[in-house]
Amino acid sequence: MRSYDIVEFGEPLKQVDQPNPVPAGSEVLLKTLATGVCHSDLHIWDGFYELGGGKRMMLKERGLATPITLGHEIAGEVVAAGPDAAGVAPGDRRVIYPWIGCGTCAVCQRGDEHLCNRPRALGIQKPGGFADHVLVPHPRYLLPLGRLTPEEAAPFACSGLTAFSALQKIGAAVYRAQPILILGAGGLGLMALALLKALGGHGAVVADIDPKKREAALAAGALGAIDAGAADAVKQAQAAAKAPLAAAIDFVGAQPTARLGIDAVTRGGKYVIVGLFGGEITLALPLLPIRALTIQGSFVGSLGEFKALMDIVQTSAVPPVPLQPRKLHDCEAALGELRAGRIVGRAVLTP
Ligand code: NAD
Ligand code: ZN
Repeated sequence: MRSYDIVEFGEPLKQVDQPNPVPAGSEVLLKTLATGVCHSDLHIWDGFYELGGGKRMMLKERGLATPITLGHEIAGEVVAAGPDAAGVAPGDRRVIYPWIGCGTCAVCQRGDEHLCNRPRALGIQKPGGFADHVLVPHPRYLLPLGRLTPEEAAPFACSGLTAFSALQKIGAAVYRAQPILILGAGGLGLMALALLKALGGHGAVVADIDPKKREAALAAGALGAIDAGAADAVKQAQAAAKAPLAAAIDFVGAQPTARLGIDAVTRGGKYVIVGLFGGEITLALPLLPIRALTIQGSFVGSLGEFKALMDIVQTSAVPPVPLQPRKLHDCEAALGELRAGRIVGRAVLTP
């Protein structure tokens, strides 16, 4: 198999050729058909998160070891399965749930493998989809493609699931009746807009600093698209919503977007932070109780949520998010385009 690996954080990816792994036990080997390129791939490649105040969380110091094969939004075709891998056969096409935990701790046992403290996530701790093959520990992480192409299905494993889980935290009763604010109209933000529509949402105002992303948000049916960098962005967001903003989902997660999201939501509102661009904010504490504000972090989603999401995707009309096809061997160039802000929607690597 051929993969494109991080050998040193921040250094060019290296092409690595080695024999295909042979699945043992419950493992399943898939040929990669499509891999979405997520902004998290860039953060992992860089090897740190910006904590603000000049501080960085270094992934190496947190125990993340190289080499790393990036890519956690993967669809593939089964080529081989271990003797204990029930219910899969060569030729089956599947989308992979990559947020795999240790499987034995209390967190995994309650179904929250994505929050496990000994994670084995594909594309982070275990080799992911920047490769022509990928090994999955158990068939329960494989969901049918149904009526989707591999390119359409792959992004649901992260951008879809993460957006869905963030929307769940707001709750259908709220997002169906009131407008919300979406910060960042990249891969995740545009996916959130699409899912909100499919779930019967009232609608969202979108804030981004890039006019091309704002254009894409309007084309996807946003109630309005505002410049997140404008001095009066809070006022603009509230005006475009035409009703109090019940919640904000921050798919950027930087100081200015956190400020905007927290300041824009109405009393009793919720600010859900997903993005990892980084930074820090100060909070006037009395305003939390007075405004009855909830601040919540959200990290990808559970296997249960992924199954629920893929059911929705198979049975209802989720508007398509723009996909930008790229070749697997051009994965490093695709990362460069994403970093430069040149990808509208999601770049998806194919063989
Ligand atoms: P992306 O590059 O596709 O999109 C980012 C968008 O943010 C772009 O449209 C960009 O113009 C916009 N932006 C950048 N700075 C901004 C600012 N100051 N104000 C407003 N808009 C701004 O990235 P993506 O793949 O959608 O990922 C977004 C973030 O979410 C990344 O940090 C990624 O690592 C993170 N992420 C988190 C989770 C999670 O589970 N918490 C999962 C996936 C991705
Ligand atoms: Zn991701």
